Amino acid sequence: MLYRSTRDTSSLTPSLLSFEEAVLAGLAPDGGLYIPQSIPKLPETFLKDWQSLKFGDLCMRLFPLFIDDIPLADLQLLIDKSYSTFEHADVTPVIPLDLDKRLYLLELFHGPTFAFKDVALQFLGNLFEYFLEKKNSVSQDQQHRITVIGATSGDTGGAAIYGLRNKRNINVFILHPQGRVSLIQEAQMTTVVDENVHNIAVRGTFDDCQDSVKALFRDEPFRQAYQLGAINSINWARILAQITYYFHSYFSLCRQHQVDPSLTRLVVDYAVPTGNFGDILAGFYAKRLGLPIGRLIIATNENDILHRFFETGHYERQGVKMTLSPAMDIQVSSNFERFLWYLVFDHSSSSVMGKELSGNSEKAAQAASEQIVSWMHDLSSQGGFKVDSHLLKQAKDTFRSVRVSNSQILETIRKFHIERKETLDPHTAIGVKAAETLASSNPVVCLATAHPGKFLAAVYHALNMSQDESGERVELNPALERSILQEAAEGRPPFPIPKPFIGILDRERRCLTCGPDPADIKQLIMETLNKK
Ligand SMILES: *Cc1c(COP(=O)(O)O)cnc(C)c1O
Repeated sequence: MLYRSTRDTSSLTPSLLSFEEAVLAGLAPDGGLYIPQSIPKLPETFLKDWQSLKFGDLCMRLFPLFIDDIPLADLQLLIDKSYSTFEHADVTPVIPLDLDKRLYLLELFHGPTFAFKDVALQFLGNLFEYFLEKKNSVSQDQQHRITVIGATSGDTGGAAIYGLRNKRNINVFILHPQGRVSLIQEAQMTTVVDENVHNIAVRGTFDDCQDSVKALFRDEPFRQAYQLGAINSINWARILAQITYYFHSYFSLCRQHQVDPSLTRLVVDYAVPTGNFGDILAGFYAKRLGLPIGRLIIATNENDILHRFFETGHYERQGVKMTLSPAMDIQVSSNFERFLWYLVFDHSSSSVMGKELSGNSEKAAQAASEQIVSWMHDLSSQGGFKVDSHLLKQAKDTFRSVRVSNSQILETIRKFHIERKETLDPHTAIGVKAAETLASSNPVVCLATAHPGKFLAAVYHALNMSQDESGERVELNPALERSILQEAAEGRPPFPIPKPFIGILDRERRCLTCGPDPADIKQLIMETLNKK
């Protein structure tokens, strides 16, 4: 399989990359995102043959369709290594949430940092290491190394660090705003003391961190000299890795319904708490590959650019609000560009069909890329763009959207805790609320993207608030976090807390500190690497 950029408008000779090249590059030089040149065909009997496969075996059926530059035996080792770090035998189990409403939870939080990003980042870390080792085994003169630099508002840094810790030829620097992440988040990142992991607490805001990272990537000599790499959510390998759990959960649901999907058609909807559109995009690919998915429900928090798009056809950037679901606090949804490309591609393919028999799909691809270039130009120059109503209608064949407010998050956590004895984290609560809001005749799988024990203050607040309270910013409350962890250590956690969190505040830590000026951060990174 080869990969093209969503913004490559050259009709006859789009530049095509191998999987390895697409993964190592991350973003395309033209600013676009890599997508597979075509959607592979699954074996006709996949519903029959794959229904009992374990998670790793499903990866081994799906990944080779998109990866032809890694020998199967090596791929198997990478997959085994990536998912052996998960605590649950099923890796991503499905449990019933409300059988009357046919709601299920797909628990994606059994990895090392208790959040769904582990599914992709455990694999991506191993892939990076593998590709670098391969390069180094053939080149005698030059040692290939990379320096991964990223900014986090707290939640995603941990998954990146755990994906890259202890990997050969990789150094990772994660910037977080000092004192503005929760105690658990800070501890999760800074208690990883492997020598290739470097946390930097920046005296500033998350925006300062992000701006500095962008400035470092724009510094071409620095970027070259230190081989900067990014592992952000637009990396194709992350999307690919996430496709597996849609298949796995679908088959798990079939077993729970005692249905053989090759004999009886079972259509399943998915509700996905969405920020950068990476998680739900994997569901879109699963559906396109032929998995019987009905609707994909985009559940947003108050940062609702996607919900507004589905209401109006306008994709328009606004300021970011802080919510109780910080991992979804985004201004634009970076992976949405991939879906938009397919939207135009499908429309163009159907309108040129019949006129010319050959070269249609390349023409449609070119048309899609041209449209994306123009929309993305409008997004950066005017803050938004609008799509035609027929395209919006076509998008709604696959997607529905719901916006969930802070107070609805708290209400939902509280309700399911009382009525179902199930504690949801604030992100998962958004997906569940969205599923409840849209009635469906299909069973709905709600993606549980984080363990409730990661968001101590918000969950505690939801369970203990009086009826009339609504959600203001409650997640930064170190004293409360300390007391909940203390109760857990004494064997009386108010709700489930992962074992590794108990005592985490007292563990050894390593963290650098720095001012927000990119020049100072660059200096600190160079000094740190030169010392090694
Ligand atoms: C990242 C994240 C999300 C959003 O996923 P996207 O792929 O960005 O849409 C939702 N919940 C949690 C807990 C996350 O960490």
